[in-house]
Amino acid sequence: MSFSSLGLSKPLLKRIANEPYTNPYPIQEQAIPAILNGRDVLGVAKTGSGKTASFVLPILHRLQSDPPAQGRYVNTLVLVPTRELAVQVAEVFQTFGRDLPRRVKTVAVFGGVSINPQMMALGGADVVVATPGRLLDLISANALSLKAVATLVLDEADKMLDLGFADEMNELFAMLPNRRQTLLFSATLGDAVQTIHNKLLHNPLRVGVEEKEQDISQIRQVAYRVSAERKGPLLRYLIKKGEMKQVLVFVSSVRTADNLVIKLNKNGIHAAAMHSQKSQGGRTDALYQFKAGKLPVLVATDLLSRGIDIELLPCVVNFELPRSPKDYVHRIGRTGRAEANGEAIALVTPDDEPHFRVIQKKMGRWVEFIESENFDLSGV
Ligand code: AMP
Repeated sequence: MSFSSLGLSKPLLKRIANEPYTNPYPIQEQAIPAILNGRDVLGVAKTGSGKTASFVLPILHRLQSDPPAQGRYVNTLVLVPTRELAVQVAEVFQTFGRDLPRRVKTVAVFGGVSINPQMMALGGADVVVATPGRLLDLISANALSLKAVATLVLDEADKMLDLGFADEMNELFAMLPNRRQTLLFSATLGDAVQTIHNKLLHNPLRVGVEEKEQDISQIRQVAYRVSAERKGPLLRYLIKKGEMKQVLVFVSSVRTADNLVIKLNKNGIHAAAMHSQKSQGGRTDALYQFKAGKLPVLVATDLLSRGIDIELLPCVVNFELPRSPKDYVHRIGRTGRAEANGEAIALVTPDDEPHFRVIQKKMGRWVEFIESENFDLSGV
């Protein structure tokens, strides 16, 4: 199938031909005609599937016959969980929107930076790509209105909920007109996503690729039983004793990541953190050093783990367990690919044990436990 058979306008097809997009990806084949027909869409797809272009292209097509946005009245709202994704999605709108007969103005807004330039930039925006918190601030400041939104896109809805944006999202939903098109994309379809889906989508077309089961049989998994206080020393002990040269450590919050890195560095283990509050430059640099084998320990939150493209790591440590068993499999799947037998270590406190049992059950594998009580952790 080619892009020209999907119903997109000539100028858009010309733009696509200028990009390295030869044929549509499966999700684009399914979603683009449905979105052009005005249908709601539920896309079960993660980054890499081509989901972004699957909504950007038909939205740009529709905007070509819509009048330009009036003042504060935004036409298309894309909600995303992180500023990286906001920037990335806005760039795709800008790339495909270049040189179209009707100019489309896209603005990305997100927290963590000064609000004033974003307020100034919003005038006449057709498309706003936003994280929920900052969007609410901008609405309170009268910088934009959602009253005329014709299309709402929720991108990475599961991540938005994982990050605790549910209240903000509900507040925003209440400001939208009832008559609109809604497109929801999510890598997973948990209960919370289902609730939103039931509330917001009308007879949606379900598209996308379900995630394939990951083969984790090659991975040697061990769990250390440890008290919460001894977790840090135990991690240092394992890194030093195992002479680990490249280990990816997962934690569940930005604070833990930063604290852990400080402690590791203080104790002579070169480590860096990778999370949403790090500057883009800092992250790229840490990842580059880690991949090049110059940084032995990278401490990451889940949020960014999906975007970290590293294959065949010798060791992954779950310093804190993820909430979802799927995320656990996703995390440990970064080790032991192909023939290399990787090792996945979990540090499990007494409080974590019931949850870890659920993870093992869901994963269909029981993990060997090692008692760490008698390890001499002094001096690490
Ligand atoms: P996404 O899942 O939207 O983050 O897209 C993943 C990557 O695939 C991006 O780098 C896109 O530029 C690229 N991509 C999306 N659709 C196509 C296509 N039809 N042909 C080639 N590359 C594509």
